[in-house]
Amino acid sequence: MRIAIASGKGGTGKTIVSTNLALAAAQRSLRVTYLDCDVEEPNGHLFLKPFITSSRTIGQFHPEVDQEMCTHCGLCGEFCQYSAIVCIGEKVLVYPELCHACGGCALVCPADAITETMHKTGKIESGMAGAIRFIQGRLHVGQALSTPLIRQLKAQAGHNDLVILDCPPGTSCPVMESVRGADLVLLVTEPTPFGLNDLRLAVEMLASLNLPLAVVINRAGTSDQKTQAFCHHQGIPIWAQIPDDRRVAQAYSRGELARDSVPEFRAAMEQILDHLSHLGQNDPLPERALAHL
Ligand code: SF4
Ligand code: SF4
Repeated sequence: MRIAIASGKGGTGKTIVSTNLALAAAQRSLRVTYLDCDVEEPNGHLFLKPFITSSRTIGQFHPEVDQEMCTHCGLCGEFCQYSAIVCIGEKVLVYPELCHACGGCALVCPADAITETMHKTGKIESGMAGAIRFIQGRLHVGQALSTPLIRQLKAQAGHNDLVILDCPPGTSCPVMESVRGADLVLLVTEPTPFGLNDLRLAVEMLASLNLPLAVVINRAGTSDQKTQAFCHHQGIPIWAQIPDDRRVAQAYSRGELARDSVPEFRAAMEQILDHLSHLGQNDPLPERALAHL
């Protein structure tokens, strides 16, 4: 079972929930994989403290044009569906950020002026955090496109009982790429006007993917009514409310898992796992995924 943990904005506690949930599930003897898809700023490792055993550089092929061999026929630009290569007068310009690395322009070039060269985009690191299989992506500084790296990161997820995808914040393409193919998206929000606004945006964004949604309210307190009303109106279940507790913030600032020191937080994680278990019993999910729940 793949669960994407997302939020409409940063700072809602998405990584706290993801890492603590991974540990809670592992302590129920589930085989768990934690994937940090927030490749621009992965920080799950600060809490899970994995032992990294492998690091692989990831790159993408882009065309490179030998301007001396080029006859300026313009065929490459006509072929490219993404306007990633354009012939203007006696110059051929390449826009790597638009390129999908299909290799077509090199094939159609009658002068053999195009070669494909590898550009490093980031790396994928994997290892173990106790019993949890840990995988994270790191986008190279200056790289604009994170979605290809996220795609390659997700390809490493494997088939453990529970795969937790810790998504980037926001509502843009990297989030869409991270949640694609998940069995469920757990949206972490906070009961503030900003939190509610961004929750709305996230729900709108995810509507097009038609994925099951559930909400976790972090820093829950007396001002949750509007968030609850919104979820009720949208028919989105609230699976847990994590109390606004100073000890959670203290654990966070020390890079510790709040689950270990705050019983209410631990109870919230158990609640989420129980919901997952019930969901699995009602839906045709792989039986193996629920064997230990
Ligand atoms: S490799 Fe494909 S996408 Fe990239 S520039 Fe060439 S034709 Fe366009
Ligand atoms: S197809 Fe080849 S020869 Fe023609 S413009 Fe492009 S690079 Fe130059």
